[in-house]
Amino acid sequence: MEYNRPEPIQLIHKLRADRSLTKDEWIALIANRTPDLAEYLFSLAREERELYYGRDIYIRGLIEFTNYCRNDCLYCGIRKSNPHAVRYRLTPDAVLSCCRTGYELGFRTFVLQGGEDGYYTDDKLAPLIRHIKELYPDCAITLSVGERSYDSYRLLFDAGADRYLLRHETYNAGHYSRLHPPSLTAAARQKCLWDLRSIGYQVGTGFMVGSPYQTPEHLAEDMLFIKELNPQMVGIGPFISHRRTPFADKESGTLELTLFMLALLRLMLPKVLLPATTALGTIDPCGRELGILAGANVVMPNLSPTEVRKDYLLYDNKICTGDEAAECVSSLKERIESIGCRIVTARGDSLNY
Ligand code: SAH
Repeated sequence: MEYNRPEPIQLIHKLRADRSLTKDEWIALIANRTPDLAEYLFSLAREERELYYGRDIYIRGLIEFTNYCRNDCLYCGIRKSNPHAVRYRLTPDAVLSCCRTGYELGFRTFVLQGGEDGYYTDDKLAPLIRHIKELYPDCAITLSVGERSYDSYRLLFDAGADRYLLRHETYNAGHYSRLHPPSLTAAARQKCLWDLRSIGYQVGTGFMVGSPYQTPEHLAEDMLFIKELNPQMVGIGPFISHRRTPFADKESGTLELTLFMLALLRLMLPKVLLPATTALGTIDPCGRELGILAGANVVMPNLSPTEVRKDYLLYDNKICTGDEAAECVSSLKERIESIGCRIVTARGDSLNY
């Protein structure tokens, strides 16, 4: 039956027509990719993006408001067993001041991201969310604070949070358990995502590309899971090793595979929001531009106060840790215009439902 095996290019056409592939087809496509095939795939991905979103690129202001974390993810620089991490936590007032700066710079989405910090209970987060909404009713609030109970997600949603980012990291339970301590499971992570969806959040999920022990089969399972969840946003970026973690000596993921996966996501879910992530910009100086040229349409510049930037280090050599928010935005504007796109001031809600 060897002669019947579809060529990768046929699989790309099938993906574009059906918006899905079987697990074996995903594996074949990912494992047999070539540079020429990738260029062709990127051109199709750009076409899809332009059909729905034009050449508009949405910006999200990322506020890394705490790097305390109760978890011990093996890949992450702010894991609780890293005694070298300098811990900080922004007060609600400091978060509000980031929002003010961000609003003036044109941001209409604020992303509150942090470790799983026991200090930020619902009693502290909900009033903060309400306060931001009162001051900036035309803005969307995105939370990215890890696993919480259904009731907590519900309460934060009722307080005004619109969106939630929680990468599933890897769908495969065996692979998940090699990246996390036994207290964390793939099943619990996925349950959170279904809870978030059922409450009514616009949900973002995603995975690291090239994480230790990852195979094309794992990536195929990630694609199938994302298809099933049908999220509003998918954030992916290369795994980058951090020297104070158990994965210090593991190889980082590549630009090449990350771009390929981005474009596949664009063809599978043409209306999804796809960020060109900071990790992508970290492994290659033009990573984010190349991500946009592979179908991405969101960038998330850092709005955290400059003093704490250098302490929110999930991985080594992270970019933009020294710049003021305004500098980040103006350099990003230029970069994005240089590839024929433009940054827009809008909430940028997903068209994927
Ligand atoms: N505590 C929140 C936010 C996590 S940080 C949560 O649990 O969702 C956001 C993302 O950074 C993670 O989901 C992970 O995919 C990514 N990340 C963490 N360490 C990384 C590393 N070493 N390289 C690349 N990405 C990493």
